[in-house]
Amino acid sequence: MTRPARTTRALDPIAELDLELARLAQAGLARENVSIDSAQGPVIERGGQRLLNLASNDYLALAGHPRVRAAAAEAAMTYGAGAGASRLLGGDLPVHRALEADLAALLGTEGALLFPSGWHANTGVIPALADEGDAIFSDALNHASIVDGCRLSRARRYVYRHADAEDLEALLTRTRARRRLIVTDSLFSMDGDAAPLPDLVSLAERHGALVMVDEAHAVGVYGDGAGLCRELGVERRVHVRMGTLGKALGASGAFVAGEERILRFLVSRCRSYIFTTAPAPAPCGAARAAVAIVRSEEGHRLREAIRSRARGFAAALSAEGLDVLDGGFHLLAAMLGEPKRAMRATADLEEAGIFARAVRPPTVPTGTSRLRLSVCAAHDPARLSEAARAIARAARAPARRRVGT
Ligand SMILES: *Cc1c(COP(=O)(O)O)cnc(C)c1O
Repeated sequence: MTRPARTTRALDPIAELDLELARLAQAGLARENVSIDSAQGPVIERGGQRLLNLASNDYLALAGHPRVRAAAAEAAMTYGAGAGASRLLGGDLPVHRALEADLAALLGTEGALLFPSGWHANTGVIPALADEGDAIFSDALNHASIVDGCRLSRARRYVYRHADAEDLEALLTRTRARRRLIVTDSLFSMDGDAAPLPDLVSLAERHGALVMVDEAHAVGVYGDGAGLCRELGVERRVHVRMGTLGKALGASGAFVAGEERILRFLVSRCRSYIFTTAPAPAPCGAARAAVAIVRSEEGHRLREAIRSRARGFAAALSAEGLDVLDGGFHLLAAMLGEPKRAMRATADLEEAGIFARAVRPPTVPTGTSRLRLSVCAAHDPARLSEAARAIARAARAPARRRVGT
């Protein structure tokens, strides 16, 4: 693709966007919505076919749980379809405060603060905690919303090698910044591995740093539902824990949990908390029911189920000779290399009744395109074994035919 002449560009600014998109498509990197025709769940419908869903973050199948759905409807009937204003301007409803209390109880913190999404939480909390003259230390594979939170901050940014506490330590000794913030995902969804949280909190304590951990993929699933900070025994040493309500909790929205004095600070300083409409009542009601399930015996059974299914699926994929990223959690990746190969595998799998998505650059580094495979507590183990065989077949097929668009 050649660059257009200057004159053309001046005449049609949209043609420039078309060209950029065409370049992406040629590299197998254009993105498109993928519509499904059923509700979210372990099996979905698409194009008249029932597909085993390996692409969802609804890890405990709570999005479709009857009690969670009913609670969403009830909250809407009681408090309305929308919150009507920001929390601070009069949109602070009983369901918000009750959900915050539930989340604080789940995580074992003094309090919790709701956000409309995890994206809001990360892009607002990080710049609030670290400003001009401060320093942020961020894992190289942190989620895009953390990367953007760092970009929005006026603090100096240091990116340490993925899950590498030694590299972090070297960077920490290099700064004289007043306030230091270490921020990391707890469970990395593209690589399926965990941050070395015990090492990170020890370093933070030695260097007087704040620690913020994004538990988006771990809340509900690990540490009795509280997340990996609890599972790894560091929850008291992490200052801010962020979690989403839209993944294992089956609703939508997010929260940060921690000491009241941190939360009070955020209420006054966090722009994405202050300048946005409070979360709608329905997902808050749904999340309350989901937290109740997660804290109950049923939640315990769901966690056992997802662990055993994930271990069985990981073993089946490895037995097929696939190059699998497996950190011992419920998120796995089958490495395929080039983006077109990953797209081809996605299309072949759909023909075989399996819904699995390719993850390509810039979400992951060049040359490491992969199938992201997420296991759900409600998956049928026999279908997971079949899926492992189908994935192996699809992965071995050469990327000869043009697919997608
Ligand atoms: C999904 C995700 C987010 C964003 O959460 P949303 O509620 O979907 O906006 C943030 N961090 C991580 C690690 C995530 O996986």
